Amino acid sequence: MRVLQVSAEIFPLLKTGGLADIAGALPPALLKAGCDVRVLLPGFPTILDGLKGSAHVGSFDTPWGEKVEVVYGTLPAVSQGEYTVHAYVLVAPGLYARPGNPYEDANKQPYTDNHRRFAALGWGAAHLAHGLDRLWRAQIVHSHDWHAALAPACLAVWNGGRSPRVPSVYTIHNLAYQGVFWPQNFPDLGLPDHVFSMQGLEYYGQVSFMKAGLSYASHITTVSPTYAREIQTPDQGCGLDGLLRARASHLSGILNAVDDHVWNPATDTLIGHNFDARNLTGKAKNKAALQTEVGLKVDADTPLFAVVSRLTEQKGLPLVLAGIDEIISRGGQLLVLGNGDTHLEQAFALHASANPTQVAFRTGYDESLAHRIFAGSDIIQVPSRFEPCGLTQMYGLKYGAVPLVRRVGGLADTVVDSDLETLDDQTATGIVFDDFTVDDYRHAVRKAFALYRRRADWNRVRQSGMRIAFDWASAAQQYIQLYQSLI
Ligand code: ADP
Repeated sequence: MRVLQVSAEIFPLLKTGGLADIAGALPPALLKAGCDVRVLLPGFPTILDGLKGSAHVGSFDTPWGEKVEVVYGTLPAVSQGEYTVHAYVLVAPGLYARPGNPYEDANKQPYTDNHRRFAALGWGAAHLAHGLDRLWRAQIVHSHDWHAALAPACLAVWNGGRSPRVPSVYTIHNLAYQGVFWPQNFPDLGLPDHVFSMQGLEYYGQVSFMKAGLSYASHITTVSPTYAREIQTPDQGCGLDGLLRARASHLSGILNAVDDHVWNPATDTLIGHNFDARNLTGKAKNKAALQTEVGLKVDADTPLFAVVSRLTEQKGLPLVLAGIDEIISRGGQLLVLGNGDTHLEQAFALHASANPTQVAFRTGYDESLAHRIFAGSDIIQVPSRFEPCGLTQMYGLKYGAVPLVRRVGGLADTVVDSDLETLDDQTATGIVFDDFTVDDYRHAVRKAFALYRRRADWNRVRQSGMRIAFDWASAAQQYIQLYQSLI
């Protein structure tokens, strides 16, 4: 089965969040399962740098008259052993030769031609499904997030809709980011007029890439079963719940997994001391090293709470700020690594300077520090308002950092709260609270302190979490079954 994966990011070449982790882990997992998978990416500088042995495959003209060259090669950084990941990359310097964040300029403003940059990605996918490469033609196109969401629409209208339709899967990694543009940009997309309608990608008079994916994909997936249900409600539907309910029979959730090649405390080369569920000595050493590195008081018995996150409202950080005294007054420590909203960055920085032995804040994007934080902290906090899947709680589970999460989306699917029953039957893996309120969050923090003091229970909870596989092989099987049902 020939599958084309289409995304804007891919770990380790270009990452702004969880999308890249998935885009980098799914192709090798599909290859291992016997799928003939290739990826399609925009030619951002770091992606072109990572493409090896590249050869010209063909080119196409964009609707606004710019030529896009398609090259083909391998991505050694994404490949795993004998499983070489092959990629098509769109070479269009006018669109993609911009270093840094792929979506925003240095002032954190979205590029004004983003609709063109990602329309080209959608059309590139459609061309590869219709013979641009004479030697390989995609049988199914699987696109990810709004940047790749035009692909299902381009496939649907190919040859005026007269060609047999190449089936498409569209995965929502976060419904909140929709790729909405002014209607005057519609002609640039090269789609027929009827597509700009309520049944197509029109959204309150504007152009929505997300809606193109939701309206035209043969099947929609999202990254956890609970989020697949939640987005069909007005509360979490971001204005698209009606459409999602209408497409409910073609919508399902496949839980993300964890790439063991990147996130495994027994083999991770980015952490000082490797460890596993049977021997946590290395974990204690990592904690001391982390406390030293970020200037917290070195103390093995103080629970170290951590956050590794984009700093946005979504991630529940206002709760952490409002309840920070609950951690500080009980003698705990808080370490935050994140970048994003300026007011959140400033608030954490203020707490860190007021209380440097108990609170530390690191801004910017630091992949290696993120690994050291999972390896050295006791509790990883993900108190999100909404969470499509969430990867950090899964990394926390694997690295013995007990997750403290809100019962929402993928967090609800991956963490089992510690209560009398779950402690007794040893299914508890973390601390889960329900309401998005400071009171509920504070209560969860108190519970974390109580559990931390009960060392036998604490160790059992930690070890139960570390033993969960979250393996890509089973997620890949679910995607393959879906592809087979559509071809
Ligand atoms: P989202 O995609 O919504 O940001 P996820 O939990 O799905 O959230 O994925 C976040 C990914 O980004 C994880 O791999 C996490 O470790 C990483 N991450 C987030 N912020 C930072 C940061 N400041 N530095 C390094 N890694 C980060």
